[in-house]
Amino acid sequence: MTLRRLFPTLVYAAPLQRTGAAAFNRRLLRECQQYRADDAAGRAWSKERYPGGYTSYGSLNRMHRLSPTFTTLERRLRRHVTAFAASLEYDLDGRELAMTDCWINMMAPGVTHGLHLHPLATISGTYYVRTPARAPGLKLEDPRLDRYMAAPPRKRGAQHQPWVSMQVTAGTVLLFESWLRHEVPPNRAATERVSISFNFNWF
Ligand code: FE
Repeated sequence: MTLRRLFPTLVYAAPLQRTGAAAFNRRLLRECQQYRADDAAGRAWSKERYPGGYTSYGSLNRMHRLSPTFTTLERRLRRHVTAFAASLEYDLDGRELAMTDCWINMMAPGVTHGLHLHPLATISGTYYVRTPARAPGLKLEDPRLDRYMAAPPRKRGAQHQPWVSMQVTAGTVLLFESWLRHEVPPNRAATERVSISFNFNWF
């Protein structure tokens, strides 16, 4: 008898860099705070679509073109995206995976980010700048969930679960294919959780 594991869903997690993450994150955090202070359009956008929090998704969504610090982040992310693309066995045939969007997410206590995916992208991910104790991780949904019929619940601790929460810590990069639905549960920390999300597409 053989059991094969078909159609695996890969999620990539790694530290962005070996050293100097704390200093880099302080720089990013200062810039995130400054951009929020300056971005009236983004604050208005967030008020409607990201209650209690701030995201630059609707206003400054190409941060890598706007700020040299974010350009550095983009450059450092590329190595990880290349490694992940190799694990996914993409045959890019001379084409390049390039960052198309990059935006700030600042979640005050209580803020949540509902279930979504990233259409029009190939690989998506998040870099974590500030993750206070009790801040939520990233909750990923089994992509087959909408086809499960009459599925019994899984045993406690089972490997097969409809949702998996990835713990996240400042300095970590998470990458996944853009069709994978995910959400951020409510921030139960006493302070803000700050992250930078991005999309890569192939051209
Ligand atoms: Fe997302």
